[in-house]
Amino acid sequence: MTAAPRTLFVTTALPYANGAFHIGHIMEYIQADIWVRFQRMRGHTVHFVCADDAHGAPIMIAAEKAGKTPQQFVADIAAGRKQYLDGFHIAFDNWSNTDSPENHELSQQIYLDLKQAGFIETRTIEQFFDPVKGMFLPDRYIKGTCPKCGAKDQYGDSCEVCGAVYAPTDLVEPYSALSGAQPELRSSEHYFFSLSDPRCVAFLREWTRGLDRHGEPRLQAEVLAKAREWLGDESDAADAAGDAGAGGKLADWDISRDAPYFGIEIPDAPGKYFYVWLDAPIGYLASLKAHCAARGLDFDALLADPRTEQVHFIGKDIIYFHVLFWPAMLKFAGRKVPDRVNVHGFITVSGEKMSKSRGTGISPLRYLELGMNAEWLRYYIAAKLNGRVEDVDFNPDDFIARVNSDLIGKYVNIASRASSFINRLFGGKLTQAASGNDQRLAELESEVARAYEGREYGKAIRAIMAYADEVNQYFDAHKPWELAKDSARHAELHEVCSRCLHAFYRMTILLKPILPATAERVEAWFGTPDLRWGELHDGDAALRARAVGRYEHLMTRVEAKQLDALFDLPAAGVDAGAAAGTAGGAAAGGTAKSGTAKGAGKSAAGATTADGGKAAGVAGGSGAASNSPATISIDEFGKVDLRIALITAAELVEGSDKLLRLTLDVGEDKPRTVFSGIRSAYSPQQLVGRHTVVVANLAPRKMKFGVSEGMVLSAAGDDLAGGLYLLDVHEGARPGMKVK
Ligand SMILES: [Zn+2]
Repeated sequence: MTAAPRTLFVTTALPYANGAFHIGHIMEYIQADIWVRFQRMRGHTVHFVCADDAHGAPIMIAAEKAGKTPQQFVADIAAGRKQYLDGFHIAFDNWSNTDSPENHELSQQIYLDLKQAGFIETRTIEQFFDPVKGMFLPDRYIKGTCPKCGAKDQYGDSCEVCGAVYAPTDLVEPYSALSGAQPELRSSEHYFFSLSDPRCVAFLREWTRGLDRHGEPRLQAEVLAKAREWLGDESDAADAAGDAGAGGKLADWDISRDAPYFGIEIPDAPGKYFYVWLDAPIGYLASLKAHCAARGLDFDALLADPRTEQVHFIGKDIIYFHVLFWPAMLKFAGRKVPDRVNVHGFITVSGEKMSKSRGTGISPLRYLELGMNAEWLRYYIAAKLNGRVEDVDFNPDDFIARVNSDLIGKYVNIASRASSFINRLFGGKLTQAASGNDQRLAELESEVARAYEGREYGKAIRAIMAYADEVNQYFDAHKPWELAKDSARHAELHEVCSRCLHAFYRMTILLKPILPATAERVEAWFGTPDLRWGELHDGDAALRARAVGRYEHLMTRVEAKQLDALFDLPAAGVDAGAAAGTAGGAAAGGTAKSGTAKGAGKSAAGATTADGGKAAGVAGGSGAASNSPATISIDEFGKVDLRIALITAAELVEGSDKLLRLTLDVGEDKPRTVFSGIRSAYSPQQLVGRHTVVVANLAPRKMKFGVSEGMVLSAAGDDLAGGLYLLDVHEGARPGMKVK
C-alpha cells in the first residue's frame, strides 16, 4: 500500500496533427490510461493531459496543399480525435493544441528565462535552401544518406535506422524532398540552446542517473544506457573533445526557423520562429494550464508544489528530446523537471515493423467501425506490455486466444456460471461467504498493485488469470450442477457460488484499470458504483448478503472473421480512410459512454465500442437488431436506388433547429439538394467533403424550406439519446456509384 496521497501530472507524447491516429498512438494512450486509472483507484490525484502538436513545416506544407490555413487544417484533424479517445475509453482530462494562447505565452516565457540565464546564443549558419521552392528547407524535407550508418533516404534531422541525430548538412548526397532539387547552402542567423554548456551536461548526467522520489530509477535501464552514450561519462570528457561525432559531446540545439514557418514567433526576433520541437513539449504544460483554468485550479501553484510528480509516457523514437532537451530546458528556465520518462517500444503486426510513412497495418478507426470491442484491444495490449522498452507484437491468432480463452473463458466465465445458480435458485442473493484465503488475496493484491505501478501489465494479468484458474477449479471441484439436483445440498451450492462471485468481484477491481467499461457494468450489476482499490479490503462488508441483479452478458467472444475484416484493407487506404472519417468524430464520441449504461442487455460488443456502426456493412448497431421489420424479397430491395454521394456543401437552415441543407454530388449533371435532420449530431463544416449514401429514387418532397431530392442514410437507436450517425463510405468509392 502506498501511504500518502500523490498528485500526478501525466502526459502522453503529442501526436503530430497531420493525420489521424494510428495504432501506435492508441497503444501509448492505453498504456498511460491504464496507469492513470490505477493511480486514481488508489485515491491519488491525477491530471492527465495531451495536445495536438500543431506547428512546423510539414503541417504548413500539408495545409497549403489542402487549400486551408494551418489553423483550419489542425482544427479539422483535432475534430476527429474524440471518436478514437472515447472509442478506446482513453480518459484524458484535457486535449489541447500547441498553437493555443497558453502555449504561445509559456514558450516565449521559457525562452526568455533561458536567455536570461545565459543559455541562448545566436550564430550565423549555412543552411540548405531549395532554389526551386524559394525557401529554406526544413530538416524533414531534406533527405539523403545517414552519415553514421549509411542508410539511404533518411530525413535531415535524424536517422530512422540507427537513431542518430544530426544536422541536415551532415547528410551524404542531400536532395530536396519538395522539389527533388539539389539544395544550395545559404546563410541565416539562428538561435541556439546551449546544450553543450557544462552546467547542462552536469545536470543531465545527474538527472538521467537519478532516482525518483519513490526510490526507483528515473529512466529505464535501456533509456539510461542511451542517455549515457549521448552524454558520455565524466572520464570520456577529455577524449570526446576531439571526436565530436562519436558521442560524449552534446551539440548545441538549433531552436529557430526562418519564415515562412507555422509556429510561435521568437520575441524580439522578427521573421524567426521557434523550431516545433521547442514548443511541442511545452505543450504539455500549456494543456495542463488550460485544464487548470477549466477546473479552477492554480496552475503555477500545482507545478511549484514539490509534491507534484511529473510523468511522461513516450515512444522510443523521441527519447533524445525527452531526456536531454526537455529536462535541461525546464531546469534552466527555473521549472519543475520530470520525475519520470516512461518509454515504450513500437507496435508490430505479426512480427513486421510498421512505419508512419508506410501507413499502419491496423487502423484503429476500422477496428471500432467493425464493432470490435475496445476492451479486447486494451486487454490484449496490456497483456503484452511490460516496463521495458520492448516492441509489442499484434498477432491475430494470439489476440483471439487471449481474449477468448483468458478474458472470456476464465474471467467472464466465473460470473456467468456462478450467477446462473444464484439468480435461478437463490433470488440473486449472496451468502455471507467469507472471502476465502485472506493471505492469498493480500498477496495477489500487492503483486498486482506493484505490477501496475511498474507498468508490468502483462505480469498483473498473469497474476489475475492464475487466480481465475483457481476460482474456476474451485467451482468445478464442487460440481455445482450436481449440488443443484439435491435440494438438501443447496446451502452448500449457495456458498460455493457466492464465493465465486465474491472472487469475480475482486478480479473486477483488479482489472478495472484495463476494463473500465466492463467494470462499470459489473458495478451496476452488484449495485456497488465507483469501485476503488480499497474495496478489495472491505469488499466483504460491501457484498455481504447482498442481492445481485440478473446476470447480463458482459462480453462476447472475438471471431476470427472480425480479424480478417480488420486486416483486409489495403495499407494505402488506411490513413486516407481514417483521415476522411475523422470529420464525424465528435458525434461518435458519446456512444461508448452512453452505450455502457444502457447496453447491458444488448450485444456486449456493441455496447462497449462506438456502436454507431459507421461502416455500411455493420450499420445495424443495437437499434436495428432490436426491431427488425418483416423480411422483404431481393426484388423489393432492388427497387431502392442507393447511391454514393459526395457532400459538397452543408448549411444551417434558418428557422429549423433540426435540419441541415446538403448539396450532394451524386454523379449527375446537376447537384442535388437534400434536407437532413442531422443537425443535432453534425455541424456543417464536419460534413463537407465526406462521402455518404443517399436514397436517390425517393420522390422529391416539398418542405417548408425547399424541395428535398433524396435522403441521406444515418443510424440511430430507438430514441435519439444515443446519437445519430451518418453512414460513411470507404475510401475509393466515387459519387454516383450504386450501393447494392
Ligand atoms: Zn543511420
